[in-house]
Amino acid sequence: MAVLNYDAQDEKKGLTVWDKLTSQEKEEVFTFCEGYREFLDRGKTEREVTGEVVKMARDKGFCDLWEKKGLKPGDRIFSVNRNSEIVLAVVGRQPLENGLGLVGAHIDSPRIDLKPEPLYQDGPLSLFKTHYYGGIKKYQWVSIPLSLHGVVARQDGTIAEIRLGDQPGDPVFTITDLLPHLAKDQMEKKMSEGIVGEALNILAGGIPVEGDGVKHRIKQGVLNHLRDKYGIVEEDFISAELEAVPAWPAKDVGFDRSLLGGYGQDDRVCAYTAVRALLDMGDNLERTAVVLLSDKEEVGSTGNTGMQSAFFENFVAEMLAARINSYSDLLLRRTLSSSYALSADVNAALDPNYEEVMDKLNSARVNRGVVITKYTGSRGKSGSNEASAEFVARVRSIFNSAGVYWQTGELGKVDQGGGGTIAYLLAAYNMDVLDCGTAILGMHSPFEVAGKADIFMTYRAYRAFLKNI
Ligand code: MN
Ligand code: MN
Repeated sequence: MAVLNYDAQDEKKGLTVWDKLTSQEKEEVFTFCEGYREFLDRGKTEREVTGEVVKMARDKGFCDLWEKKGLKPGDRIFSVNRNSEIVLAVVGRQPLENGLGLVGAHIDSPRIDLKPEPLYQDGPLSLFKTHYYGGIKKYQWVSIPLSLHGVVARQDGTIAEIRLGDQPGDPVFTITDLLPHLAKDQMEKKMSEGIVGEALNILAGGIPVEGDGVKHRIKQGVLNHLRDKYGIVEEDFISAELEAVPAWPAKDVGFDRSLLGGYGQDDRVCAYTAVRALLDMGDNLERTAVVLLSDKEEVGSTGNTGMQSAFFENFVAEMLAARINSYSDLLLRRTLSSSYALSADVNAALDPNYEEVMDKLNSARVNRGVVITKYTGSRGKSGSNEASAEFVARVRSIFNSAGVYWQTGELGKVDQGGGGTIAYLLAAYNMDVLDCGTAILGMHSPFEVAGKADIFMTYRAYRAFLKNI
């Protein structure tokens, strides 16, 4: 059997996935990544990604589980949770209690959320107060163009959708930074304190309305605009989810276009590749294949759309009920505990500018294949889900047989830091789980970078796993 991971010999020779691909495969890589680039631009929030995935799935013959009466092998279904989380499945021939093949990614990304009472006026300007979401380096989010995405729920139950700043001709939003001329004190602070959370205020407008009786004439100007354009009033902000994200589109990076840069690749790169893998799957599967795209991973997978909610478990229960007409709690437990999962999330790529934070022997590199991460966690593997030796061997064997170039990675040097994924929550069902995803440069920044050969290998990896596990 060919061994397709990178060993010491490849390392010495400096080989990458590009060295291993035929010219036809290289074409495939670029074509695949065009679709991914467009997906990144269409889906900049968990809601938008959910909507996009529903469209992609319906185009490929998937329908909502609720529209189905009974389930048979070959059926293609999905279920959406609160417009922000989605699970899709292709039903296999085996009984569900033999276990599912699951790829689980997340579709929320670090960003700047508006507060419930966001709008205020300060002198000649109107601004939004914000509370950032997820692990950001705050200094990266000032002085860049931001677009505003999300929904505002009116009291009567209707929804105003806002998506402003991405299209040519749209205005954008921004958070200003202090000019260097007057930044003497700021520049002497620690980087973590140079920009503080309460200073991440977004510029929203500056033209006053006429009238002597109006208290905050510039804020009122913005409110009037929101009323006229979106039909919303100030109190509606309390029932809104408005997210400021980088306004720029995803772009090819480098003369040879070998890299792709853009916002939200953690974890939409794994979400897109997993969905494509499932959509491209024939309907002749042994084991039922499932792709789960969850929300709220960046804040600990909490809440009713996070991995900790019962949504996924309930979906499996509904599938069982629809498949066999004799649902039992025991069958649900058997189904979950005999399942196999890839926790599809990104890992850090070794950055030539910051090599000192990584153990070179155990870090992932750009364009050296999809990354297998046996355990995540930090400081003594704390908080990690460690995959068993046996399960890693099984996944390795599937990848090697399917032409998937892969590498291993660990998130940084021991005691340098670390991070987690949804793996430990899947493992809580007693299923086998392995972290597996794309290596990223500049993770959590407004412009994350991934290698195109890695993106394609991630797709190939998920497809091989769902087909053969
Ligand atoms: Mn992630
Ligand atoms: Mn993350």
